[in-house]
Amino acid sequence: MKQQVLDCFAKLFGGEGDIRTYFAPGRVNLIGEHTDYNGGHVFPCALTIGTYMAARKREDRKLRFYSMNFEKLGVVESSLDEFQMGKEGNWTAYPKGMMWAFCQKGFPVEQGFDIVLYGNIPNGSGLSSSASVETVTGVMLRDMFGYDTISMIDIALYGQFSENNYNGVNCGIMDQFAIAMGKKDCAIFLDTSDLKYEYAPVKLEGARIVISCSNKKRGLGDSKYNERRSECETALAEIQKVKDIKSLGELTEEEFEAVKDAIKDPVRQKRAKHAVYENQRTVQAVAALKANDIAKFGELMNASHVSLRDDYEVTGIELDTLVEEAWNCPGVIGSRMTGAGFGGCTVSIVKTEDIDNFIAKVGAAYKEKIGYAADFYVVDIGDGAGVLK
Ligand code: ADP
Ligand code: MG
Repeated sequence: MKQQVLDCFAKLFGGEGDIRTYFAPGRVNLIGEHTDYNGGHVFPCALTIGTYMAARKREDRKLRFYSMNFEKLGVVESSLDEFQMGKEGNWTAYPKGMMWAFCQKGFPVEQGFDIVLYGNIPNGSGLSSSASVETVTGVMLRDMFGYDTISMIDIALYGQFSENNYNGVNCGIMDQFAIAMGKKDCAIFLDTSDLKYEYAPVKLEGARIVISCSNKKRGLGDSKYNERRSECETALAEIQKVKDIKSLGELTEEEFEAVKDAIKDPVRQKRAKHAVYENQRTVQAVAALKANDIAKFGELMNASHVSLRDDYEVTGIELDTLVEEAWNCPGVIGSRMTGAGFGGCTVSIVKTEDIDNFIAKVGAAYKEKIGYAADFYVVDIGDGAGVLK
């Protein structure tokens, strides 16, 4: 993959000089959905698929971008004097947003770049290709300018800052954190209230992670994502009138039941319930994994989906079809939607010997009901972003 990106770079921009390569993975969240902006826990892992970048510093302030995934657009030319927040109108908004974020955070970007990207994760599908592009750009900038005081967690925070402010997507910290901090064969148990984290080995013994991509485009910015966030903020403010908490993630199920009537609107009450219960499920799921109780882990995944479908209402017919068909397949330990929802992907844990049947059966049922095909990826958990040697 790295060689293909370098070959493409040489063809477009010439192969001479100090051309360096970088990689940032995509991520999948195993459990803990819509908890990261509610001060709760998440449990994502980095994948071995992601975004490759080849880059070379320029002497001037020009930027030349090319993505092998967006061939039709060709080389996009721009400069460090043309930051157009929320108005780039194409994919270069993500690498440019990260350059802008570095400048805002006191790490000037004073020289331009020639850049080629290639991603082998589906983009716009909920595996966080956007955070992958931001993070690979951050790793590149840190390396090129020798900004050694910037930690990987800082890169994650700058990525979130750029996605929030430059690209207008009000995402939490989960995606960038998983991508920057991922570790092979481990998921990250992250407390989003204080960024304390712990690596938990994912030993699935005879099973693997299968991602089913609905191919329904999500469009986070104009979806109901921001609406869910504000529903939770309002619910929190209502609870704060009767109980001293900073986030919904602080509440146990019992504490929530005791104060829930402070939330005036029944729909908003369901949203807050999901945030509280999902956080507790995530804590329990990690304990189950540590105890090698994969069956329990799977049950909690299933319960997570039900809550996202019925209380948080972020699934839709496509994700529900994928998950409900998965639940009926032999060898499925657990299955749920993953990511923001409203389209995107599901994550399932499937016994290795049943994976072919799973893909055939879920794939056929999905096509029949929805009218177009889903894509399936059997994935491995990989390391976080870094320089490629
Ligand atoms: P997700 O992050 O879930 O994949 P988003 O809609 O947030 O979905 O981000 C997808 C966008 O990220 C793409 O439309 C594109 O602008 C950018 N992107 C992702 N991967 C690449 C890539 N390999 N090359 C160029 N742009 C990319
Ligand atoms: Mg994204």
